[in-house]
Amino acid sequence: MKVHHLSCGSMCPLGGHIMDGSTPGLGFSHLVCHCLLIETEQGLVLVDTGFGLQDVNKPHDRLAEFFLYFNNVQLIEEKTAAAQVEKLGFKREDVRHIVMTHLDFDHAGGISDFPNATVHIFEAEYRAAMVAKSLKDVGRYRPQQWARIKEWQRYEVGGDLWNGFESVRDLKGLPPEILMVPLVGHTFGHCGIAVDNGTEWLFHAGDAYFFRDEMDVENPRCPIGLRAYQTGMEVDRHLRLHNQDRLRNLKRGLGEDLTIFCAHDRVELERLQARQGQRIEKVEPGFLHGSVHY
Ligand SMILES: [Zn+2]
Repeated sequence: MKVHHLSCGSMCPLGGHIMDGSTPGLGFSHLVCHCLLIETEQGLVLVDTGFGLQDVNKPHDRLAEFFLYFNNVQLIEEKTAAAQVEKLGFKREDVRHIVMTHLDFDHAGGISDFPNATVHIFEAEYRAAMVAKSLKDVGRYRPQQWARIKEWQRYEVGGDLWNGFESVRDLKGLPPEILMVPLVGHTFGHCGIAVDNGTEWLFHAGDAYFFRDEMDVENPRCPIGLRAYQTGMEVDRHLRLHNQDRLRNLKRGLGEDLTIFCAHDRVELERLQARQGQRIEKVEPGFLHGSVHY
């Protein structure tokens, strides 16, 4: 099973190193939208979708103004999953399944570029998104992004434990090597996605954490600005921090057999792209529009 690591969009809020832990100064930071494109016998599978073509074309119709400006979303056509799938030589229709960590605007924007794909989601996340009423929820969940979905596959927890975590196995139509692992806290139905690539587990932790050193098993830390953002976006602090503890234990336990990464850490993404010999694409942030350098 071949796995490509893609960044399907960037967010470049002001704050530099206090937001991403590596950009000097307090100017534009750089957060990515780390998605996976998996080649399987059942067709292409996307894990998360970042920002999509419709977000690029009609940002004010699709995204909340607050997040558009505060997160300084970089809307670049070449960075969409649709453009990257085609650049890899596939057709958009080859994407048969999309497995979501959760439905926040910075993960779900590309769904509408693959209207024939089945979207797999944890039931609790689906419900939370459908009843969104608070100002924060209306900003984070954008029904415009999922209006064209023909088929949702919704799941309750079931099946075996996976390394101490409750999990969902046997995602309909997908190979058994792809699991959904509930990691609630950032949202009510947030999940990680585990992929057995034959030599190790790749674990996409979504927004269960935001910064690579939060998974440091000895001395976890997160830059102050990013920590504040995570706190602002959480729905259950206790569960979120508890799940981070469990992820560190998982890392401790599985060692070399696990590569864990989150959705928004650029350094994690570039390490994985480099490991696979993938080209690393640079974004030079501007305000609301970046430029991609290949
Ligand atoms: Zn996110």
